[in-house]
Amino acid sequence: MKPSILVVEDDLRIARLVKMNLEAAGCACILAHDGESAIAAFERQRPSLVVLDVGLPDVSGIELTRRIRREHDTPILMLTARSSEGDKVLGLEVGADDYLTKPFGTSELVARVRALLRRAGAGARESAIEIGELRIDPSRRDVERAGERIGLTTLEFDVLHFMASRPGQVFSRETLMERVWGTDRIVGDRSIDNLVSRLRRKIETDPDAPRYLLTVWGAGYRFAEPS
Ligand code: CA
Repeated sequence: MKPSILVVEDDLRIARLVKMNLEAAGCACILAHDGESAIAAFERQRPSLVVLDVGLPDVSGIELTRRIRREHDTPILMLTARSSEGDKVLGLEVGADDYLTKPFGTSELVARVRALLRRAGAGARESAIEIGELRIDPSRRDVERAGERIGLTTLEFDVLHFMASRPGQVFSRETLMERVWGTDRIVGDRSIDNLVSRLRRKIETDPDAPRYLLTVWGAGYRFAEPS
């Protein structure tokens, strides 16, 4: 599969140039020209890597990096202007993996992208979980039922993957909430129940008689063990 690269750049000329060169190097590219559409494209496509211009019209590349890093370890290559040395430091501090200063050579860009992809690929990749008709792939954050892709939100995926990695183990609502939202956020018991209902509607053939996400009366939930 081709690595997919999200290119976030408001300068259309540079965006096209980057796209052309990365595609010539065997990558698939998605373009976004401002921060908001970049976030939307990121959530939708879950790219393998992000090339990110720091100077965007709405949200800064720094802020965007911060937002991506809250939940994802996708490699980020920042593009900075020569005049903004401070951005590099800040960018790396908030989690960018590397940067290129404009103007840059396209072969340098391709080399940096390849190096980052290699590094990310070399990291420990968790393997996919298969149970019944379900396939949960953490490296692509992708869920399929009988070969059919199911769209899940980040939160839904996290809960599903967390539980499916520990089949048979019973989790109380408190544990799940802590695991998913962290301890600094106050959410009610119903939030977990609602999340589980949403997940069941998406992954179960019959949400009223679930096969995967099981209720343990008086205790919480557990994920079915492979039979
Ligand atoms: Ca710009």
